[in-house]
Amino acid sequence: MYELKLSLPKWIDSFLNDHPNVIHDPEKQVRFVLDLTERNILEKTGGPFGSAVFEVDSGKLVSVGVNVVVQQNCSAAHAEMMALMLAQKKLSHFNLGAKHFPNHRLVTSGRMCAMCLGNVCWSGIKEVFSSAEPEDVEGITGFDEGPTPQDYNSQLEDRGIKIVTKILRSEGRAILQLYVDHGGQIYNGTR
Ligand SMILES: [Zn+2]
Repeated sequence: MYELKLSLPKWIDSFLNDHPNVIHDPEKQVRFVLDLTERNILEKTGGPFGSAVFEVDSGKLVSVGVNVVVQQNCSAAHAEMMALMLAQKKLSHFNLGAKHFPNHRLVTSGRMCAMCLGNVCWSGIKEVFSSAEPEDVEGITGFDEGPTPQDYNSQLEDRGIKIVTKILRSEGRAILQLYVDHGGQIYNGTR
C-alpha cells in the first residue's frame, strides 16, 4: 500500500488513434482538449475537464489528461495534474522546463484551480492556454476553484510562464453545460 497508481480511462487510446498527434494551431489544440473533455462527459468517466501537453515549437502532443477524481478515488486527479504528471513520467524528468527539453505548453479546457495552478508553477511548463474561466466553472457547474490569487496571470508571468486565456471560451462554457445537462456529479462543490 505504499505505491501510487493513477490511470486514465480505457477509451483514451481510441480517442488518440482518431486524432492527429501533431497540432500547431493553438485554437485547434483547445478544440482537441474540448473534444477530449466532451468524451469524458459522454463516457461518464469523470468531471468536465480535459488537458494536454504539447511541445510549443513542433506542436507534438506529449500527453493528455482528463478529470478522474471520482473514478480513481483521488482528489488530486484533475485533468491538468494528470497531463503534467504523465508528461513528466514520459520524459522521465520532474522538470518539463529542463534545459535539454523543448518548451512545453499546457492546454486546458478551463483555467486552473488553486491546486493545478500550484503544480503549473513547479512543473517547468512554459506556456498555459485555456478556454473557460474559473467563474464559468463555478457559475455553470458549482465546482470550487479554490483560493486562487487576484493577480493570477501576473503570478505566472513573474515565473516566466506565458498565459493565454478565453480561447474558444463559449465552446468551453458549452462543454461545462453539457456536463450539467447530463446530470454529472459535482463533488467538493461550492453549493
Ligand atoms: Zn485543478
